[in-house]
Amino acid sequence: MTWQDDYSERIMKSASLPSAELVRGEGAYVWDSEGKKYLDFLAGIAVNSLGHAHPALVEAVTRQIATLAHVSNYFATPPQLELAERLRRLSGAGERGRVYFGNSGAEGIEAAIKLARRTGRPRILSLQNSFHGRTMGALSLTGKASLREPFEPLLPGVSHIESTIEALESAMGPDVAALVVEPIKGEAGVIDLPAGYLAAAREITAAHGALLIIDEIQTGAGRTGRWFGFQHEDITPDAIVVAKGIGGGVPIGALITFGEASDLLIAGQHGSTFGGNPLVTAASNAVLREIESAGLVENAVVRGGQISSVVDGLPLVDEVRGRGLLIGVGLSAPVAPLVVAEAARLGLIINAPNDSSIRLAPPLIIGDTEVSEFIEKFTSALQSSASKGIQ
Ligand SMILES: *Cc1c(COP(=O)(O)O)cnc(C)c1O
Repeated sequence: MTWQDDYSERIMKSASLPSAELVRGEGAYVWDSEGKKYLDFLAGIAVNSLGHAHPALVEAVTRQIATLAHVSNYFATPPQLELAERLRRLSGAGERGRVYFGNSGAEGIEAAIKLARRTGRPRILSLQNSFHGRTMGALSLTGKASLREPFEPLLPGVSHIESTIEALESAMGPDVAALVVEPIKGEAGVIDLPAGYLAAAREITAAHGALLIIDEIQTGAGRTGRWFGFQHEDITPDAIVVAKGIGGGVPIGALITFGEASDLLIAGQHGSTFGGNPLVTAASNAVLREIESAGLVENAVVRGGQISSVVDGLPLVDEVRGRGLLIGVGLSAPVAPLVVAEAARLGLIINAPNDSSIRLAPPLIIGDTEVSEFIEKFTSALQSSASKGIQ
């Protein structure tokens, strides 16, 4: 039996067959079960902020699991309180902010939907081509009909609007509870919002008494060159949802509220058994502490700039999108899956969110060595795809 046979037989058919079986990681590298080494420029979809097996994360998890791993939300723990304070500070939510802990991005979005419901208004707006997760509430917001349709009926009252300020203005009204929006649409292929969108969205939602909820699940934890993607604009949202990169590999998600939105959910209205347990919050504290002390937010700006400027001139490359170390490469032909396969052959992990886009989301720890190796391998993958694609 190969791992492929085992996978086909044992894993739910909801996932397609993976391209490799990975057994080990270190820094920006992973190894498969045949001993092949890969440079990981996907980082578990923007999750492994510190790369693999980072000593700070290993030490924090090891120490915490030997001390106190889980207690339920009937009890407070020091790592949970420390993480809530750190998230309030880094997000700018400050002393008026509050944090709800769940275990994934989708769960953070579910909490945000419940927050929105507490305004007493029935409608929620999200963008076409957005991605907010796969649980039924989060899926209702996700702006991709092909993902939603097999599971309808979903949550009523959701409108998927075009990503323009005009569309937002015309959809807005006194029945709108919230706009939920990603600063950069990662799953759509790393698609930037129109310039000025978030600032306009802030004004329009505030004028109508609706919440502005920002999905920072993929863009958070320093990835775009700010702690959170919305911080590239001079705005204060009502809430943000974080997950992926704040945990560096442990399952965690959180809803962070700002200002008056912090009073919407009251005792008994939401909860999760694992949410904010000491094991994962100790891990997340270690990850965020390391991002801060090692200057990895700044590193995302520098490395992202290096990569984007070189990628811009490579064969098949039509445009380069995104910010920092969340980079979308728009191709001039629908050969992204071929490029991903060629890259894997050369020992480089990248990802194709769709047929004409490549997503790059390497660990935030990459330096000159990894950038050079990436450029070399990615260039070869594009060159061989260009020649194969034409035949
Ligand atoms: C990954 C992602 C989600 C869903 O997070 P899960 O942890 O997979 O539930 C939601 N929104 C965005 C923007 C994401 O990138």
